[in-house]
Amino acid sequence: MGERSGIRGRFAPTPSGLLHVGNAGTALLAWLQVRSRGGEIAMRIEDLDAPRCKPEWAVRAMEDLRWLGLDWDEGPDIGGPRGPYEQSRRGTLYDAALGVLERQGYLYPCYCSRADLLSLAGAPHGLASEGAAYPGTCRGLSEAERFERAAAKTPSQRFAMPDKPVAFADGIAGEVVYPAGAGGDFVVKRADGIIGYQLAVTVDDGEMGITHVLRGWDLLDSTPRQLLLAEALGYPPPKYSHAPLMLGPDGNRLAKRHGDIAVSALRESGIRPEGLIGLLAWLYGLSDRPEPASASELIPLFREELIPHGSVRLPDDWRAICEARSRR
Ligand code: GLU
Repeated sequence: MGERSGIRGRFAPTPSGLLHVGNAGTALLAWLQVRSRGGEIAMRIEDLDAPRCKPEWAVRAMEDLRWLGLDWDEGPDIGGPRGPYEQSRRGTLYDAALGVLERQGYLYPCYCSRADLLSLAGAPHGLASEGAAYPGTCRGLSEAERFERAAAKTPSQRFAMPDKPVAFADGIAGEVVYPAGAGGDFVVKRADGIIGYQLAVTVDDGEMGITHVLRGWDLLDSTPRQLLLAEALGYPPPKYSHAPLMLGPDGNRLAKRHGDIAVSALRESGIRPEGLIGLLAWLYGLSDRPEPASASELIPLFREELIPHGSVRLPDDWRAICEARSRR
């Protein structure tokens, strides 16, 4: 397909469970954003946190997306020029990026407790889920102090946030400004050697030539970090758009208590993709009613300005809507 429009997006599922209707919604919007501009999509499996991820969940996620009519041009299943498409196979790229950051003086070793490190490096989902910002305890250690601590403990590596605010125009949220150092210095490599989410995603988006990132609202707080990393690594910044999170009918984050929210469970219960896509299009403001629709029918209707900010809430009868609107 070559350089159709120069627009390149991506799907970046973490295969730590089954895709749910909220993930499907974000994927639909990401697909529409790119396809409505004649662009290409790469499928990237974000499986760095090996104990939480399973290859069969990656396969299921890809099946679910295809069932919804969402396709991609490059990926682990079909290959492509910018692979490998699993983060677990991209270690040499991350190591090279760490070297670049190190040489520019952006990194410092951190000897703080394991509990801190896990919460800060493991979760990609924003500052709230990470707890308090790292206070910079190890940033000012002298060489002698580092030497002394290194004898007892393998450090993690942190990125020292440059002292400047970060502003960007989000495709959905609009103008966003973060103060200097927002979120604190973050882990790019854990003491156990695992690469941090922020670094991996920035390197992958840069190396894969991604121009448009559309993902969940919970990753908005990660964006200033990724913009600063991209700048330090010399990658052009992608255009970011943060899609509203999907809440259950009770206003809480989607979870098992809301019933079976897995896309594959809906599929197995006889719901058709058009029923679910129609519901999603209506929730995201792309249509006035939850009428059945295929993903490609929505391409001409897609406009970022229509998409609500922050969150959308599933109606009580969301499942019945999907069922009734399923074309059989
Ligand atoms: N892999 C992340 C997730 O599944 C998404 C990362 C991103 O889009 O930057 O939540």
